Amino acid sequence: MKNKYLYIQTFGCQMNVHDSEQMAALLSGNGYKLTDNMKMADLIILNTCSIREKAAQKVYSQLGRIGKLKEQNRELIIGVGGCLAQQLGTKFHKKVGHLDFVFGTHNIHLLPQMVLAIEKKRKKITEIDFHKSLNSIGVYVPPPADAISAFVTIMQGCNNFCAYCVVPYLRGREISRPSDDIIEEVKKLAGNGIREVTLLGQNVNSYGKIFDNGLNFTSLIKRIGKISGIERIRFTTSHPRDLSVELINCFAEEEKLCKHIHLPVQSGSNRILELMNRGYTVEDYIKKIDHLRKLTPGISITSDVIVGFPGETQKDYQETIDMMGKIRFDSLFSFKYSEREGTAAQKLKEKVEEGEKLRRLEQLQILQDQHTLEKNTSLEGSRQELLVEGKSRNSESDLMGRTSSWKIVNFKGELDMIGKLVDVKISKAYLHSLRGKIANN
Ligand code: SF4
Repeated sequence: MKNKYLYIQTFGCQMNVHDSEQMAALLSGNGYKLTDNMKMADLIILNTCSIREKAAQKVYSQLGRIGKLKEQNRELIIGVGGCLAQQLGTKFHKKVGHLDFVFGTHNIHLLPQMVLAIEKKRKKITEIDFHKSLNSIGVYVPPPADAISAFVTIMQGCNNFCAYCVVPYLRGREISRPSDDIIEEVKKLAGNGIREVTLLGQNVNSYGKIFDNGLNFTSLIKRIGKISGIERIRFTTSHPRDLSVELINCFAEEEKLCKHIHLPVQSGSNRILELMNRGYTVEDYIKKIDHLRKLTPGISITSDVIVGFPGETQKDYQETIDMMGKIRFDSLFSFKYSEREGTAAQKLKEKVEEGEKLRRLEQLQILQDQHTLEKNTSLEGSRQELLVEGKSRNSESDLMGRTSSWKIVNFKGELDMIGKLVDVKISKAYLHSLRGKIANN
């Protein structure tokens, strides 16, 4: 039988990366092997994102290129999934005539039958219904033989309706996965050599709110911490409003919970936070950061900021800059506000001009680079435990590992250290990485 090849391109966040892994795992049952050469593929899937206009534009450009491949190979099957697919549904077929199937964020589990139906009888398919079940997130992804880290989805959707965000409309309302299913999945991953898991959800801090057994995100972390073979637990993403004292304490109590939190603040102006419908003030946010740092010295704090949200004045922007000066994030993902259809922010009148957004963004990024370098430099001379991930990208003769605080460290080591925890002494700090030397015990 002829080999069939699948090419998946992922746009957007870590949730999408994991969704793509699930798609590949499901389609291996249809006989598809993954390829990283699009030209070799019998089936191409674009797993899309529509959080920002730029991400959507990239999808359309790529579909244009894929259309040329279809002209040369009429048998090629082309599908789009993810948020943009959920948003456009059947309209996607009208926009892009060479698409075979469109599937939404709750329909990943239907992929094998959709692809089979197209293989048997060429027809256009659209599946974008929201399902109450968690079928589309509970797909087990067998890790590759050399993998040491894996994602585990613990919930789906979001109830927050931040004014700029399309996620609640495109991924549905928040549902938590039963903890026993998650524990089983993590045990299976540990049995297959995985040492680090990253728990995924749009707002992991509210995990378990729908349960009546008292189980919440902190108790889930503690249960995972007992699984032998798992050395490190990470999670993303957190909502500052739902970051509980219990979870703050957990960083200090649970040894396996990595000392890093990504806590998107979005703005340093209370007026803008209110317009964004974020549900906290800058003062609340800073209080939580102080508490985290007091209980877990050295914890790294990363965040997201949007500049140029409608109505953001120079004063509001300056408040964001001032907040950055007070907090000094380890790193920051910063974006220009991008209008999304159907969101509350779209209706706000006072738009910030594009050039001004860009000016604010560039200035903010220069400041953040200073803070990141300052944070990294403060680690020079310190001893850090790394989970060694593999060979360094910078040099064939170096290895690369991450600190518990999510920083990349390059160092000279032996290949058999990959997948293990090793101690290094940090010798030099750079903006995007650290240099280390194996520490003597
Ligand atoms: S918390 Fe806000 S920004 Fe995050 S996914 Fe939900 S609505 Fe979007």
